[in-house]
This record gives sequence, C-alpha cells and structure tokens, in this order.
Amino acid sequence: MTRKRNNPETIAIHGGDYKSDPATNAVAVPIYRTTSYQFNNTEHAANLFALKEFGNIYTRIMNPTNDVLEKRVAALEGGLSCVTVSSGQTASTFAVLNVAQAGDNIVSSTDLYGGTVSLFTHTLSKLGIEIRYADPSNPENFEKLIDDKTRAFYGETLPNPYLRVFPIKEVSDIGRKYNIPLIMDNTAAPVICRPIEHGAAVVIHSLTKYIGGHGTAVAGSIVDGGNFDWTADPKRQPLFNEPDNSYGGVIWGKAVPELTGANVPFAVRARVCLLRDLGSALAPDNAFAIIQGLETVALRMRQHCANAEYAVDFLKKHKEVTKVIYSTEHDKPIADRAKKYLNGGNGPMIGIELKGGIEAGKKFIESLKMFYHVANIGDARSLAIHPASTTHSQLNEKELAASGVTQSYVRLCIGIEHIDDIIEDLDQALNKSSKGNLKAVS
Ligand code: PLP
Repeated sequence: MTRKRNNPETIAIHGGDYKSDPATNAVAVPIYRTTSYQFNNTEHAANLFALKEFGNIYTRIMNPTNDVLEKRVAALEGGLSCVTVSSGQTASTFAVLNVAQAGDNIVSSTDLYGGTVSLFTHTLSKLGIEIRYADPSNPENFEKLIDDKTRAFYGETLPNPYLRVFPIKEVSDIGRKYNIPLIMDNTAAPVICRPIEHGAAVVIHSLTKYIGGHGTAVAGSIVDGGNFDWTADPKRQPLFNEPDNSYGGVIWGKAVPELTGANVPFAVRARVCLLRDLGSALAPDNAFAIIQGLETVALRMRQHCANAEYAVDFLKKHKEVTKVIYSTEHDKPIADRAKKYLNGGNGPMIGIELKGGIEAGKKFIESLKMFYHVANIGDARSLAIHPASTTHSQLNEKELAASGVTQSYVRLCIGIEHIDDIIEDLDQALNKSSKGNLKAVS
C-alpha cells in the first residue's frame, strides 16, 4: 500500500500528479508558452466548451504549466482544486466576485492588507458589493453583521501591522451555522497554517510572497477546500444555485459535482466565468518562477520563523525598542491563537516601535545595511519599511491609529540569511536611530 504523503516539504516538490512532461519526459515543469490548443476534432472541441470533457481550450482559462502549480498549491493547502491568477489582488477580487453580486455583502476582518482594504472600500463598493468590517478580536462581531444578503466571511491568517492570528475555526463555525463560507488570505503563513483544516472553505494567496519566495514574479491563487456545501441554502448562495445564463443555464453548485465527481464549484466557476470574462490570467512564465520558489517554501518558512524568534528575543531587550509586535507577543486570548493555528513557526514578520518616534523610524530604516527597504513581504532577503512615512503616509493620526500603525512603527520581514548577520544589521541600525543627523553618523 502506498503511504499517503502529506508532508509540506514533499508536497511542494511532488504534489499534484506531475512526474514528468508527458510529451518529452522532461522532469522540470516546462513553460507551455502557447495561447491555444489544437482540438482533436469538432466533437472534442464542443465537449470541452460544454464542460462534458475537461481539457485545454485557451491560456486565459487554463495552461499546463499553471496546472502543475495549481495542483501543488491545492495539495499544500489541503484543498481539492486551485485556480491561479495574475496577482494576489486578483485572487482576493475573484474570491469575492465569485460569491457576491451588486446588493450583496461580505463581512470582513478589520485586520487586512492595505491593498485589500482599498479594493473592498473603493472598487468593490462601486460595484455595489458592501464590505462590513468586524474586529476579529471577538469572533462574535462577525455574527452581529450578518443579514440575508451576506455571502461570505473574509479574514487574513497573519495580518500586519497587528500580527494577530485570525480566529479561523471560531469564525468558520459561526459562518457554517448560516451557510456562509469563510475565505482566508493565507499569504503570510503558508505551510505553518492550513486554514482549510480549521474550517475555511476557500484559501487565497499572493503567490508573489512566501510561496514564490524570491521576489521575481507576481501571482495569485484561489484554493477550493471542497468542504463547503454550496447548495445547502440556495437563497444564501444564489450564484451557485440559480441558472447561469452565461453558460447555458448551468447551476454551478449541482453541475460541478455531477460533472467532476468533486465538490469544487467555487474553483470551476472562478475559472470558467471569472477568468473567461475578466482575464487576469497568470502567465506560464510566472507560474514557472513560482513553481521554483514553491519547491523550497517549507524549508524557507522554517528558517524565516526560526530567525524571527531569535530577532524577537533580541529586539525585546534592545534599549531603542519600546515595543515588539509579534504573533506570540499579544495578551491572551490573542496570543493563544498563535499556538492554536500556527504549527512549525510563529511567523516571519515582526513589528517594532522605537523610542525616538517617527524620526527614529526613518533613521533606523536608512541605517540598515543588509535589509532591503521595500514595500514587499515574503522575500528570501530581510526587508524593512516604515509605514507612517511610506505606505500609510496619506492617513491622518486617527486613521493611522485605527490601522495599528504608530508614527514609530517599523515592519520587519525577517529573511533566511544567517541570524548573526540579521542581528548585527538590526543592532547597528537601532543604535543609530536615536542619534542626530544621519549623515554625520553614517
Ligand atoms: N494579500 C496580502 C496579505 C498581501 O500582503 C498582498 C500584497 O502585499 C496581497 C494580498 C496582494 O498581492 P499581490 O501583490 O500579489 O497582488
């Protein structure tokens, strides 16, 4: 009997059913640079379009390179099916558009990536989809905002700047009482958290970050957990229970399990409706770059997290640091969520507040020698940014406070360099942060 391999290190390399290229026996996944695919005959073409048979039609909707990545990401997350898209932003956009239409609402955590807040507050609201915000420190806040137009809950596993782990099971359990699926953005915690195991129905990623891991390609993914009954309450999920006139009147919630034998209507609808209509396909060249990164994601996450633990200990004792923000450094019950949901590491990201306020924050950043100063997370390199003078500079004091960013807050994404070099760089930059004119000291 073959033992079921469920270890992330192995899944990342062997996940999905790709062993070698069927056409050439190539072991590395080939980049299929083609827009279209020769149909065997007219019947074959008609069957593919009618979803009677599954196969390649056009690269906006599917591609064999992307397919390997999709199967591996689905396996890594413990889901049943995955659709890759052009970016993490597209993944969150599609995840919402796949369940909600004008007049509907989504209840989302307040702890979110800034780009998601902007998408929700500005673009999706203009399309008539209302996003209601719930503070995740108390999961019951989600329940209070539900009405009969609520189509999904949305959260982020390890959101910065607060770095409070999301109460996945608690919120998912509430949602399931009302047939509301939980969509989780697991960008900052691949491998160390598998939200589907805790009840999430859909997991999205910006593959640009830790899964790609090297800052070389922008990409996104949407994993269907296969664990949500989209037909249990037809009024709650009209997009899966009413005939879709754009596809010959198909009812996605019923048709997909019948056609595929798998409960993955969310993934199929995202692919054949949203990729078909909105485009935003992942280029196979970028899928190839992400596949290279994915192969080492488990090793890298282990190293990112181990280095981050050391750095937290160091920073807590440093005289220039007034506060360290980390998944395990919160009061109870928030800190307990790190224990409950993170496995094999407590995350790669750290926030610090500096004694000298905004000027110290800027000086610290400018004094770093090895860390990169970039608006990104999830690179093998160590990264730092001072949000108050960059990503959050358009916010007023009140908005800054609400977003969890203080004037002196600095976000660190600890890389996989040797820990001694990371600590040395942090130490020398912190020691300069409180000193006068930077030019005089550097
Ligand atoms: N989700 C999270 C948590 C992110 O940090 C980001 C980008 O920083 C995104 C989504 C958007 O991803 P992308 O930049 O690939 O569009």
